[in-house]
Amino acid sequence: MNKDAFKITFWGTRGTLPVSGPNYARTGGNTNCVEVNCGDTTLVIDAGTGVRELGTKLVGQDESRPLHLLLSHAHYDHVEGIPFFAPFFIPERQVNIYSGPLDGSAGCEDTIKGLMQRPFFPVGKEVFTADMHYHDVGVRDTFQVGNSIRVHTAPLNHPGGATGFRIEFNGKSFAYVTDTEHEPGKHDENVLGLIEACDLFVYDCSLTDQELPEFTGYGHSTHEEGLRLQKAASAGRMMAVHHLPFRIDAQLDSFQEQISRCCPKSTIARDGDVVEI
Ligand SMILES: [Zn+2]
Ligand SMILES: [Zn+2]
Repeated sequence: MNKDAFKITFWGTRGTLPVSGPNYARTGGNTNCVEVNCGDTTLVIDAGTGVRELGTKLVGQDESRPLHLLLSHAHYDHVEGIPFFAPFFIPERQVNIYSGPLDGSAGCEDTIKGLMQRPFFPVGKEVFTADMHYHDVGVRDTFQVGNSIRVHTAPLNHPGGATGFRIEFNGKSFAYVTDTEHEPGKHDENVLGLIEACDLFVYDCSLTDQELPEFTGYGHSTHEEGLRLQKAASAGRMMAVHHLPFRIDAQLDSFQEQISRCCPKSTIARDGDVVEI
């Protein structure tokens, strides 16, 4: 393993609901989950349905290494894989879970354990056998993961709130920004701060500029705004995530064409994509 490698793997790029079928085959249908490898440290951002397959991969891999799961918020499409994430059931694994304030909940631990109880899931809140540590982080916080990774947080504009992350390692930076709504004609200063001169950022591209007025208040943004932010923040590559369930491959291909015309290196993110920065 390259100790300097900074690698991002997309396990779920769908927003709102998982989908399946031939119309989605090339983009994939799992909900939000991104793996971030910084040298030999693994961070996971969000635990939508994509996290199940990631968990399967992680079983048997050096279980003495702590694992770190960052949650943007606790809407279903970001947490519905949690009951099926294998590392939570391995006693040798230390797992750290981090989240910003979760509206309507006493905090990160309360929320995660709540998902495992009846009537949602028939097992009970003490079911995890890993060495679990829960961390409530602030909305404008900075914390350290291991010796060499720094994580910055910022609040996003989403019903009930959500947290954006910027991960810095080995002189490079990656930002994760979903779910969030922008005000037309105005850049969100919190988002600009997260993506400022970063090497790669993922952005909530649920909607298009044309669709946005119809969905005001839903807490989502557009690929056009992602590209404007990219320019304004002198950021590197943008990858569009949170594809809505009705976005079939053909439509996402046309979004890709629009994105490529504006910025050749930016792309629609699809399940299985791996990017090194
Ligand atoms: Zn979402
Ligand atoms: Zn949400």
